[in-house]
Amino acid sequence: MNNHAVAVEDQKLLSETVTQTRLSRSSQDYQQISLYKDVNPLDWEDWHWQLNRRIRTKEELAQVIKLTPEEEEGIKKASGRLSMAITPYWATLIDPEDPNCPLRRQAVPVVFESLISPHEMVDPCAEDRDSPAPHLVHRYPDRILLLATESCAMYCRHCTRRRLVGEQIESNSPTRFDAAIEYIKSNRKIRDVLISGGDPFILEDEEIEILIQKIRAISHVEFLRIGTRVPVTLPHRITEKLVNMLKKYAPIWMSIHFNHPKEITKRCKIACDMLADSGMPLGSQSVLLKGINDRPYIMKRLMHELLQIRVRPYYIYQCDPVRGTQHFRTPVAVGINIIEKLRGHTSGYAVPTYVIDGPGGGGKIPVGPNYVLSQAKGKYVLRNYKGKIYTYLE
Ligand SMILES: *Cc1c(COP(=O)(O)O)cnc(C)c1O
Ligand code: SF4
Repeated sequence: MNNHAVAVEDQKLLSETVTQTRLSRSSQDYQQISLYKDVNPLDWEDWHWQLNRRIRTKEELAQVIKLTPEEEEGIKKASGRLSMAITPYWATLIDPEDPNCPLRRQAVPVVFESLISPHEMVDPCAEDRDSPAPHLVHRYPDRILLLATESCAMYCRHCTRRRLVGEQIESNSPTRFDAAIEYIKSNRKIRDVLISGGDPFILEDEEIEILIQKIRAISHVEFLRIGTRVPVTLPHRITEKLVNMLKKYAPIWMSIHFNHPKEITKRCKIACDMLADSGMPLGSQSVLLKGINDRPYIMKRLMHELLQIRVRPYYIYQCDPVRGTQHFRTPVAVGINIIEKLRGHTSGYAVPTYVIDGPGGGGKIPVGPNYVLSQAKGKYVLRNYKGKIYTYLE
């Protein structure tokens, strides 16, 4: 396709996403779905109710959407690790007729998940190897990842930690993080702790608070952040009580996993507003997913909508070569082209960093368009976002 054809197609897609987003925002009336017609609004708002009523079976899901043979087979095979679990809230956002609905593809297993590709691994980022104590991944000297749970509100079909994450009986012994806390305490280089999982907000407020208190008691930890997807998959989890608890330990930064503009509903905005109003800085992380957000104008729209709800785009991840995700992966050039179409063309705040997690444990490696054409003897030849050439003399 030539540039003009690409532009025309992108423009078409852009108008499609705008309408989809509008639709999802007005289709919040869950009582129109027969499965939920008798649910009272207080239950609907209750995050425990949402968790207990997650869609776990083919039979239930078939009452909300028309399943394809690929999905039926996928659901059957997805028992055990990374089983299917869809919050009623998310289920109402799915297009019941369109198997390519971006929200549907992130939530409903398909048979392609059981394909074996020689390039894929169970643990591509070698997290298990870099684990000095249970629940920890220590990759960078000054910061550490603490996996607080192995459960989430909804299981994303592209999950990188699918080897760990899913519905299993987890220990909830109050001493389970002791070794992790001891490790952080004894390693004075660690100034940044990232609490993630799974999703930390699957835990009750009291359990999260105890964990935060233990980390806050370590004097060399200055930066604390939480990685979560609940503002997107279960926004009801962001309660007044939770926000007030978190506020006591400010500053806590939050990274929220967003992949598509349709995810930014009125209900999601309420959750993000509560967090932002409490003073918490919010960032986003997105995974580049084929057929979901791999068009520049969809990503651009997502980034613009994130700024509107006070979330600063942070990372776009190349989809890791984790087993069972081949159908989601795009070439790297697709991600680079997205950044090319953002940088300079829109607010710098709307441009995240595109990264590849180096397979085998290399950490996040930024990749993007090359703007330095040549560099020699104090002379930089650069191009700008329009392709015009400039020389900078040192
Ligand atoms: C992503 C990640 C971090 C945090 O990286 P930043 O670039 O600082 O956001 C820390 N540890 C591990 C293992 C990670 O995967
Ligand atoms: S919320 Fe994160 S950890 Fe949980 S299934 Fe989705 S990608 Fe995996």
